[in-house]
Amino acid sequence: MDIITPKGVKLGSKQNYREVIKDFLVKALDSGIADAAFLPVKVPSGDSYAWMLIRDRKVLEMSDIITPIMPVNAANAVKRLTRKGNGKYRTCVLVRPCEIRALTELIKLNQVHSEDLFLITYDCPGAVPMQDFIKDPEGKGSDFNSAFMSGEYNSDIMKSICGTCTEFGRTSSDMHISETDSDLYLVPVTEKGNSFITDCGLKAEEDMKPAEDSFSAALSVRKEKRTKVFTETAASVDGMQNLNKVFEKCIGCHNCGSVCPICYCRQCFFDSSVNEQNSDYKLLRASKKGALSFPEDKLMFHIGRMTHMSLSCVSCGLCSDACPVDIPVASVFSYMASQTQEAFDYRAGNSTGDPLPMRDYKEEELGQLGQLGELVKSVDRQEGLDA
Ligand code: SF4
Ligand code: SF4
Repeated sequence: MDIITPKGVKLGSKQNYREVIKDFLVKALDSGIADAAFLPVKVPSGDSYAWMLIRDRKVLEMSDIITPIMPVNAANAVKRLTRKGNGKYRTCVLVRPCEIRALTELIKLNQVHSEDLFLITYDCPGAVPMQDFIKDPEGKGSDFNSAFMSGEYNSDIMKSICGTCTEFGRTSSDMHISETDSDLYLVPVTEKGNSFITDCGLKAEEDMKPAEDSFSAALSVRKEKRTKVFTETAASVDGMQNLNKVFEKCIGCHNCGSVCPICYCRQCFFDSSVNEQNSDYKLLRASKKGALSFPEDKLMFHIGRMTHMSLSCVSCGLCSDACPVDIPVASVFSYMASQTQEAFDYRAGNSTGDPLPMRDYKEEELGQLGQLGELVKSVDRQEGLDA
């Protein structure tokens, strides 16, 4: 990906952020630079949002553009739009940084095709917990607006995991909306984003240093909080006994996997018939342990999910939102992900150019397993099987 030196186009005042961004998108649609917009629109009951592929300007007017909540990770919605391949229509997609990072992972996993998309992100103050918003959509909506307009990146009204997110700014999108105390700016990130801005008749020439400075201040607070929360989480999940304790009230509904943008398999092994055993087998297991709890293998499901997706977890927090029994799934997964990603020197969603460690296997990475690979190769060589 070509990273352009950050210079931006002033879009307008932060106080009217929704209108300012909407005007820009309307212009892009009216001038034919984009054919559609993919945005969240409030549902008629007013207490949630649905992602919509918008062609009609009247529907675009109805979109809140930037929403207080994240009912689904937008990467899941974009996956449904593009999984079959690139189309010929060009669509503007405006998403949170954790959503674009999930999208980036899905692009690498061939689940999203992005050639015909213009991906735009913004400095994200966080998302209000779904349950809080449902109880008081107007109040929480207005709290979110105040946080956005005042550039409050550490507000207590947001999901706790948002307070530990350190990647809430410019990331792997084509364009990013940055902010100073008073204004919004559109910053090109890739050549595609740069061309889009030029085609709109705009020129990115404003210095982004003031925006970067206010962002850095908020980032330091987040980093401190992340270290503190991760230290607490590490202690709470240390060893099988503690891990069991965290998940002991799990009811095995698998909601956490269904909403996760990274858990993309169409058929989960844990829900498949391959994972079913007859009652004699279960009785045998009960005899060994004295008793067997149902649904079985609840912890195995979580450990299985961790091994499958912790390299790509983007800490969006949706798994915690979806848990009906309030297990802090996202804190655990986000902490585990930070450890796995550090071990592989990999940052989920950083760039489509960074190879996925599990697809770009290096033998020396896995210690003894890697040595075993070397041993097999040398035996093959001796026996002439490596041709
Ligand atoms: S595990 Fe949870 S926090 Fe991580 S990407 Fe999936 S839903 Fe988001
Ligand atoms: S959403 Fe909660 S209860 Fe359901 S499987 Fe996940 S951790 Fe268990």
